[in-house]
Amino acid sequence: MTSAERYDKALAALDTYIREHKMRHTLERERLLKIIADINAPIFTVHDIEAKRKEAHISLPTLYNSLNLFVSARILYRLERTQGVTSEQYKWALDAKNSMRVICTRCGREANFTDPALLRIIRERKYANFIPAHFSLYVYGTCKTCRRLLIQKNENKR
Ligand SMILES: [Zn+2]
Repeated sequence: MTSAERYDKALAALDTYIREHKMRHTLERERLLKIIADINAPIFTVHDIEAKRKEAHISLPTLYNSLNLFVSARILYRLERTQGVTSEQYKWALDAKNSMRVICTRCGREANFTDPALLRIIRERKYANFIPAHFSLYVYGTCKTCRRLLIQKNENKR
């Protein structure tokens, strides 16, 4: 994913979250999202965006509030590492894709499908002692081509 693609995806996710939670759009958040999208590393810390944050005149409280919001909106994951002192690291959650696929058990053909209602159910489900990150869902069955071949085969038998 390029930084522009990541920014577009993150902005779309933020937009959805903001709308669902009846919040206001702020320019600072969008600017911060752009700064983060431009970092060319899989994991970053607040320190990595410090210079750009100051340049963009984003205050520290705004930075932390926005990062919390991005984590809630599942744009970022927060990783906590303790190496002498506890420091927070962030990782893009958007890169880890949820996948929903159908697989034909006869020919092995696979295809993606999307189901927003199903996605919502899985995302909002609470798990005991577990915080979900992403998921894969497979639906097994027979594809159209194999189904047609099967029907033909059965008809030829008659
Ligand atoms: Zn098939």
